[in-house]
Amino acid sequence: MSNCMNDYKNCKYNISNEYKLSRYNVYFKYSDFNLLYNTLHDSLLKINDKTYKYIKKNGENLKKIDDEKKNILIDNGFIINKGINEINFVKDKYLKSVYDNKSYVLIINPTMDCNFNCWYCYENHKKSKMSPETIQNVKKFIKNLITKKDISNLIISWFGGEPLLYNDIIYEISKEAKKVISNYDNKILLNDITTNGFLINEKIIEKFKECNFKRFQITLDGYKTKHNKNRKTKNGENTYNTIIKNIKSLINNDFKVCLRINYTEEILEDGDIEKIANDFKDIDKKNLEIDLQKVWQIEHTKKMYDLFDKSIDDIRNINKNINITQSYQLHPNQATRCYGDKMNQAVVNYDGYVFKCTNVKFDKKNSIGKLTDSGIINWDENKMLKRKRFIPPFVKFEKCIACKLLPLCLGPCSEMFLRKGDKEDFIENYCPKGKSPKFDLKNLVKNQYYEKINN
Ligand code: SF4
Ligand code: SF4
Repeated sequence: MSNCMNDYKNCKYNISNEYKLSRYNVYFKYSDFNLLYNTLHDSLLKINDKTYKYIKKNGENLKKIDDEKKNILIDNGFIINKGINEINFVKDKYLKSVYDNKSYVLIINPTMDCNFNCWYCYENHKKSKMSPETIQNVKKFIKNLITKKDISNLIISWFGGEPLLYNDIIYEISKEAKKVISNYDNKILLNDITTNGFLINEKIIEKFKECNFKRFQITLDGYKTKHNKNRKTKNGENTYNTIIKNIKSLINNDFKVCLRINYTEEILEDGDIEKIANDFKDIDKKNLEIDLQKVWQIEHTKKMYDLFDKSIDDIRNINKNINITQSYQLHPNQATRCYGDKMNQAVVNYDGYVFKCTNVKFDKKNSIGKLTDSGIINWDENKMLKRKRFIPPFVKFEKCIACKLLPLCLGPCSEMFLRKGDKEDFIENYCPKGKSPKFDLKNLVKNQYYEKINN
């Protein structure tokens, strides 16, 4: 594949000597500055009022832009060769991400059981635990991945249920993975975990340090009172204070924490996000990332959009160095397909059945493979073939082809497309644009600007 994204002028799609504006340019005026941003190249320029007005007024007419400015615009992908069809870049980006064979993402559910009783959880918390036989099969699978596949990174993500209920299983498998990978200087093991954060203690922290754990994802449902109302343990205990204490311990031990805050209009209006951010004012924030996610059962309102903006500005004022992400999928530097779309990826459930997506009922009938006693996955070839046939799904939708967000969003995932793509209103229902501030370009560009000037 050509390296067009880095060597734009010599790209294989460059076939003319005339220039045009990129279809992925966006221009925004904020209260005291103007930004020009390109969603394909993630390039950002602060421009003065005169240039902003000129571009708005002259559109495709590039004749009056002086050569120096023009070269900057060409180098950053704002002005492109007339022969280029930028959709091909997006397809390349998509396929590169799906067929990336340098990393393998292995998601493991040691259990589907949980110590919490959240009313909205879609998972069926039946008593379950990975058996010693399946543990052995997972270890063999990891060994096969490391020794037989030409990968540089093995990313093991622990999921569930609440995975820390069986931290002994996590420790056993991770220790083995670390042992096998330590024979290879050119291969790296990265462990991360999605947990409710309640069961973290010093002993677990020490064990996890041993096994190359890097990142924890922990969720809060608002500030103390609201969180405690929603997220009690099965025994009815409040959980907020313990989780905050545990997050601080993790950060002080040099783990990265992605703190996901589920928000509603009430949570934004009551200033809960600022109050939570304030609970971390006494620690080093470089390892803390705040990820704001709307509670999925509700729709966004106009009021929520405004409140969301205000919350982000307020957090920035209180905590200058805090890293706020609006969605890991839309973060321009990480804009790749969801793990579920990648070929080098599998979700292994506690019972050995294998899936591609985590947003699924982990039933045998939804599985697309099974882990065998020799540590390989028997994929259901028919189901896999169906996935491959529709890659990339965005080419089927005019709305995506015309969308300036496409290089960041990359359209629907193959899982959703396979489940519902034949319905007439599929793309309208799926498309997050206009329904979430995460897909609000003006907001995204402003955040990019703050990130760039803070780093
Ligand atoms: S539904 Fe799609 S985006 Fe969501 S987890 Fe599954 S594969 Fe990923
Ligand atoms: S799903 Fe929506 S936001 Fe994403 S590329 Fe398609 S039209 Fe754009």
